[in-house]
Amino acid sequence: MRIGFGYDVHRLEEGHDLILGGVPVPSEKGTLAHSDGDVLIHAICDAILGAAGLGDIGHHFPDTDPANKNLDSVKILQHTLKLIHDAGYRVINIDTTICLQKPKLAPHIEEMKQQLSRIIQNDAVSIKATTTEKMGFVGEGRGISAYAAVLLEG
Ligand code: MG
Repeated sequence: MRIGFGYDVHRLEEGHDLILGGVPVPSEKGTLAHSDGDVLIHAICDAILGAAGLGDIGHHFPDTDPANKNLDSVKILQHTLKLIHDAGYRVINIDTTICLQKPKLAPHIEEMKQQLSRIIQNDAVSIKATTTEKMGFVGEGRGISAYAAVLLEG
């Protein structure tokens, strides 16, 4: 058994899409990023890679590589899963928290869970959401963050 932890942040600005767990979320502001800025998937990938001792997402998908521009983060997750499967690991469960002031994410959580469960081929995916009570960069609407913990079996 190996435990891993991941964290990711992106800026929020008007005129950009907000994609979380591979699901487009209607929002005034979206993430500014080299890839599609899916903080939830990025945190999950870092947790998975960390648990397997395989570095981090920036190592495998550098933001200096033009090939990663506007990259669909579902592809990052699929590649991450291939890396750990090749190393002899499988995901036991994943627990996550998204920090966002608005919009409310509750109506979208189930779709995110279904999307991620399908990709990971495991129903034990938990997605939680919280505001930061209008404090800090998340609370002021300037950014979004996500935390993920994962357990792998090898
Ligand atoms: Mg990121």
